[in-house]
Amino acid sequence: MNLANESITSLRQRLVAKEITPTDIVTDLAKAIEARNPALGSYLSIDVEAALKEASTADVSQPLGGIPIAIKDNINVTGQPCTCGSKFLQGTYTAPYDATSIVQLRAAGAVPMGRLNMDEFAMGSTTENSALGVTRNPWDLERVPGGSSGGSASSVGGHIAIAALGSDTGGSIRQPASLCGCVGLKPTYGRVSRYGLVAFASSLDQIGPLTKTVEDSALLLNHLCGKDSRDSTTLDESVPDFTSGLKSGIKGLRIGLPKEYFIEGVHPAVSAAVAAATKHFESLGAEIVGVSLPHTDCGVATYYVLAPAEASANLARFDGVRYGHRTAIQGDLLEHYMNTRAEGFGPEVKRRILLGTYVLSSGYYDAYYLKAQRARTLIRQDFEKAFEQVDVILSPTAPSPAHKLGEISNDPLKMYLEDVFTIAANLAGLPAISVPCGFADEGGKKLPVGLQLVGPHLDEATILRAAYAYEQSTDWHKAKPSI
Ligand code: GLN
Repeated sequence: MNLANESITSLRQRLVAKEITPTDIVTDLAKAIEARNPALGSYLSIDVEAALKEASTADVSQPLGGIPIAIKDNINVTGQPCTCGSKFLQGTYTAPYDATSIVQLRAAGAVPMGRLNMDEFAMGSTTENSALGVTRNPWDLERVPGGSSGGSASSVGGHIAIAALGSDTGGSIRQPASLCGCVGLKPTYGRVSRYGLVAFASSLDQIGPLTKTVEDSALLLNHLCGKDSRDSTTLDESVPDFTSGLKSGIKGLRIGLPKEYFIEGVHPAVSAAVAAATKHFESLGAEIVGVSLPHTDCGVATYYVLAPAEASANLARFDGVRYGHRTAIQGDLLEHYMNTRAEGFGPEVKRRILLGTYVLSSGYYDAYYLKAQRARTLIRQDFEKAFEQVDVILSPTAPSPAHKLGEISNDPLKMYLEDVFTIAANLAGLPAISVPCGFADEGGKKLPVGLQLVGPHLDEATILRAAYAYEQSTDWHKAKPSI
C-alpha cells in the first residue's frame, strides 16, 4: 500500500468504505517523506507524532476527515515552527495559534502535517531564496520547483504530500504548481482569511491549495473560504460548494486569449502546449475569443513597486524585540535594529525592503508608488472589460518550464519575469488556477508545463469547471515522476 500517491478524493472513498484508516495514511506518508524528502527537500520539518495523534481521533465522516495537509512554512499552526524560510525565525519562533485557514481545515477534519520550504518571506520564484535549504523539482532533481511555494509544489508533485497549502502574492501557488505538474489555485482576494499568514504584501496575498487534481482543489477550497472577523479584507459572500458544478461541462463557455500574453520569449514547448490546449478546449465545446489586456506590459513593474512597498512596511515588525532573531552585538537601539536585521534577512529580502522604502519615501512616492497604484487600477479595468466578452481567460502559467538550479538565481530581473503571466490576477484580485497541460523535453527529462485560467471576481466555480473538463479529457495529471 502506498497511500502517499493518492488524491484526497480517492482516499476519502477508501476511508468511508473503511478499507483504510487515517493512521494508515499518516504512516504511509511518513514513510514516503523519509524515503524521498532527503532528495526533494520539500519539508523543513515534520512532527509525525503530532499528526499520528490527530489522525487517531479524526472523524472520517467529516468532509476532510483524516486527510493530512502539508503547510507552507509561513502559515501558523499551533506549536509548530513557522520560519518563512528565514534565519530570522528559524529556531526562535513557535506559532502560538492556528491561522484561520488551519482552524477551518481542522474543523472539516483535516490533519495539518509538515512544514514546507519556501523562498524567504515568499519573495522569489525558485525557492532558492530560502535561507534554510534547497528544494528540488520532482521531475528533474537538477531543477528548481518554482516558488515561492516550492516546497508545496515539490511535495505534491513528488507524491510526498496528499495536498498542500501555499500562498500567492504574484504567482507563488500557480507558478510552482505549473513547474511541478500539479494543480494550484489562487482564490479571489478576500475569499480566504489571511489571519495567521505571515504578511508579505497584504493587498495581494492569498492562501490557496496545491493538489493532484482539480476536484481536490475544489474540495479544499470549500473549507478555506469565508468571512473572518480577524481579517477585515475577507468578503462577506456566500461560499458555494465548489465541487457541485464541476462536472457540468464547458459547452458554450467563452474563453479569452489575451493577445498581449502570446509574446516572444515564451519557451516553444510552453507555446505549443498552450496552443494544443486551446484547440482541446474548442473540441470540448468552448468558444475561443481574442481579447486585449492593453496594460499587460505594466504588470511586472507595477507589482515590483507595490509588493516591495507593502513588504517594507510589513517586515518592519522584525526588529529583534518581540520575536525572532536578535543580534548578540551590544549597542544602542539603532545599532540593535541594524545589526539584527542585517544578520537575520537574506539578500532578496533586503533588496525588497530597500526598494520598498525608496518608492515610499517623500519625493519619490508620487513618481513610483502612486503611479503604480494608478497602473494597478488600469490593469483591473482591463480585466473588467475583457470579462464583458468572455467567461475565463487562458494563458500559459509561466513563460518556461523549470530552470536549472542556479540558472536565474543571480539575476533578479530574470527571476521577476517568471511572474509575467501570474501577477495581473493578484493586482486585479481575481481567482486563477494552473493545471498541467503538457511536457517539455529537456535533455531527456520530461518537465511539466501548466496553463492558467483566470476568472471574474468571485467566480472560482467557472475556472474550476473549465479546468476539470480539461483535466478529465487529458492524461497529463496521470503522469508521475520517477524518483
Ligand atoms: N515571485 C514573486 C515575488 O518574488 C511572487 C511571490 C509570491 O507570490 N509570493 O514576489
